[in-house]
Amino acid sequence: MGGSGSGRLYGGGLTVEDCLTLDVNKLIRDGIVNAGAHSGTLTWAKCATRETVGSMGYEVHVDGPHIVRLRFYWGQPHFDETVWLETTWPYFGGVRWWFTCPRCAGRAAKLHLPPGEKRFLCRRCWGLSYESQRESPMFRALTQAQKIRLRLGGSTDTTAPFPGRPKGMHRRTYQRLRDQGERYERASWSLAESRYGVPLGCI
Ligand SMILES: [Zn+2]
Repeated sequence: MGGSGSGRLYGGGLTVEDCLTLDVNKLIRDGIVNAGAHSGTLTWAKCATRETVGSMGYEVHVDGPHIVRLRFYWGQPHFDETVWLETTWPYFGGVRWWFTCPRCAGRAAKLHLPPGEKRFLCRRCWGLSYESQRESPMFRALTQAQKIRLRLGGSTDTTAPFPGRPKGMHRRTYQRLRDQGERYERASWSLAESRYGVPLGCI
């Protein structure tokens, strides 16, 4: 299995769960990205057994405001990958960090290292699938959207009109839930379109 050429590198047999995964949001939560230039070690362990499944060194280089480069190195022989981060500013506020995939230069929240491979690339580049559809971002967004509709007294059908404000619910609470719900619905629809080429209704 090579790391060169164009298109997907795997035919769909390999899943995200088979790989070592770097999650930019976890790196931020763990204080690794925001702490300025420094270095350390990342370790992957199985949740159930706490058995270590992988470990590598990292360096964080801050080249300017919001200009961050991560270097990862591991293994014998020595592998080395540099990944740039980028930011977007969502309209609902805050700043969102992304990896720039070292192969396709696309934005990705996660990069994956399949067994025996030498590069951290995005899911699209490796052609990885999810072990469970339920873990895909599309289904997570859809599930969140459906929860909000149910809470407002509606059904799980996201193609139906959005439910109105239930009696006794504050306007601001309703508006907040509605904004959230519509955001999840837009996300699940655009993810469904990118995946299947057609919008997805209720499940
Ligand atoms: Zn990629």
